[in-house]
Amino acid sequence: MNLRESLASAAARLGEVSETPRLDAELLMAEALGVKREQLLLRALDGKAPDRFESLVERRLAHEPIAYILGRRDFWTIDVGVGPGVLVPRPDSETLIEAAVEYFRNRPPQSILDLGTGPGTLLLAALDQWPAARGVGIDRSESALSYARGNARRLGLADRAEFRIGNWGEGLDGRFDLVLCNPPYVARDAALPVDVARWEPADALFAGPDGLDDYRRLAPRLAPLLSSGGIACLEIGAGQHAAVTKLFAVNGFTISSRIDLKGIVRCLVLRIDR
Ligand code: GLN
Repeated sequence: MNLRESLASAAARLGEVSETPRLDAELLMAEALGVKREQLLLRALDGKAPDRFESLVERRLAHEPIAYILGRRDFWTIDVGVGPGVLVPRPDSETLIEAAVEYFRNRPPQSILDLGTGPGTLLLAALDQWPAARGVGIDRSESALSYARGNARRLGLADRAEFRIGNWGEGLDGRFDLVLCNPPYVARDAALPVDVARWEPADALFAGPDGLDDYRRLAPRLAPLLSSGGIACLEIGAGQHAAVTKLFAVNGFTISSRIDLKGIVRCLVLRIDR
């Protein structure tokens, strides 16, 4: 089979496991050829498909996320290295960066904290956005932190990023202009897509019977971490707006929200007036 036929046949099979089978096939073919997808689309498709392609397609047929197979995912302006053990960055989470960019339009944040940083997604995107800022990323998973440190080095951000093991804000001293946080927020019994349920780390997804356990832990600890004029951008799941607002409002925050590209309230912006 030539490239064109291999792509068509893979796309047909991938329809069983993916909502974007043609895109997946193209990404896997580009990976097998060692080129970018854009380059693949520009070239003649008469050549033979590399042998490696089939094994990549097999992995996707077993529901492995494309980001794990390729070992990376684009997020905001950066390319984040990922693999089993860390949450794949989602476009939804860019809503947090958008909210921060809007708030800090005239005065860039100098210090940034990312609670539950995973592979460093939010912190590294923010450091790329604000070249004079420094930041700390916290996670309870050593394996996530090793992805995060590797990403910081590869992106040239290691001199401004520090990664530490920890439990939310516990034991941290200092205040930050911007706190970013995408905690686990999926309810224990929620039905997730097979890709997510089978492959992504449960620790990064689930937060008790109603998905709110980590917000409950965080709510009383957040205020002391914010500098005067600082904000926290907190990711929430679909339908959690009212419940999470309530949990944080009792801790003295002024709260606004921002929707994602699907129109779902995805980010709470929390501020303390001191
Ligand atoms: N947005 C993720 C999902 O689609 C959940 C991520 C999280 O719990 N922080 O399942």
